[in-house]
Amino acid sequence: MLQRTGTGNGKTVLVAGGAGFVGSHLCDALLARGDRVICVDSYITGSKDNIRPLMNHPGFRLIEKDICEFHEIDEPLDQIYNLACAASPPQYQADPVHTMMTCVAGTGNLLALAERDGASFLQASTSEVYGDPVEHPQREDYRGNVNCIGPRACYDEGKRAAEALCFDMLRAERVDVRVARIFNTYGPRMQPNDGRIISNLLVQAISGKPLTIYGTGEQTRSFCYVSDLVTGLMALMDVDPNPGMPVNLGNPGEFTINELAEMVMAIAPTMAKPAYKPLPADDPQRRRPDILRAKELLGWEPKVPLSEGLRHTADWFTVVLGTGAGKPSWQAVRQSSAYEMDVRA
Ligand code: NAD
Ligand code: UDP
Repeated sequence: MLQRTGTGNGKTVLVAGGAGFVGSHLCDALLARGDRVICVDSYITGSKDNIRPLMNHPGFRLIEKDICEFHEIDEPLDQIYNLACAASPPQYQADPVHTMMTCVAGTGNLLALAERDGASFLQASTSEVYGDPVEHPQREDYRGNVNCIGPRACYDEGKRAAEALCFDMLRAERVDVRVARIFNTYGPRMQPNDGRIISNLLVQAISGKPLTIYGTGEQTRSFCYVSDLVTGLMALMDVDPNPGMPVNLGNPGEFTINELAEMVMAIAPTMAKPAYKPLPADDPQRRRPDILRAKELLGWEPKVPLSEGLRHTADWFTVVLGTGAGKPSWQAVRQSSAYEMDVRA
């Protein structure tokens, strides 16, 4: 019989992808409320730097492993969050077969562990299940418009297959599964070179380089600050009874990429003119969550406006990138005010 080792009344929570951008903030929040956290990560797109401050925390355990190869763990679990998956288009397209296997085989492995222990399971799904949406804003009952053979399919269809697997396990009453459909989220600890829009634009503006805008820049996205998302993920995991349906988590404020570029330039002024580049294949034209379900079931809605979140994120990148003197040490980043602001509980 495996012994539970959760601290105090806290739960033992496995966070797959805990060294990533969102996952590391989730690990912080779970530890802050007294849970024991087991982070499983292969570092394929995450970074040890994101969790380095947690290494000496008595409630934190790190397992370096690919979830496609992760079949066993020597302690019982109360909850599993599955955030393990590359999320930036250039990153998830770099090894599309691995992305698909992570979504399907990796999720299957974690569901098997949840079934073993009777643990609740939260799957980090995505607004990409709606593809290039015909309905706007996107409600959870919209079935989407996805190109199943395009370059984004490894992620979009992988996440759709993972949702199907999750709901099969739920219907069969084998695992208490919850599914969050996450819309574009940003904040400190995004990798400066991960290729997503907010990291790209802020890093370019801070470095005085041209802001890259794909297509006309008139496509839209809705951007959620990471602290809001983490609050929503935890609320969905803990809500009783299980909603039994996917729940959109995102900020309904909708901006064109050109509008976002203007906001970035107001925060980090640069003389460089924007550089317009070709639009990637299957790039969705618009995206905005309908969050009525999250409001009604979880009492959740985002609080951080884009202008404020962008400023926090710009502060973070300014420190991480240094001020022209090269990249500072991780210790310097941790001692900075940007880091303190970032890890507020
Ligand atoms: P991220 O790339 O920063 O984090 C993903 C983490 O998972 C990384 O630490 C990576 O090393 C790890 N990982 C990837 N594949 C793995 C594997 N096979 N085995 C073990 N670890 C693996 O991305 P993020 O933005 O933090 O996204 C976290 C989750 O949220 C992802 O599942 C993503 O699909 C979902 N999501 C994020 C957004 C967003 O805008 N950030 C939007 C929708 C959905
Ligand atoms: N984009 C852009 N310039 C960049 C990176 C992205 O114009 O340097 C665009 C991209 O084509 C898309 C939007 O910004 O229309 C959001 O891209 P991101 O990769 O952040 O996420 P997506 O929502 O496409 O998964």
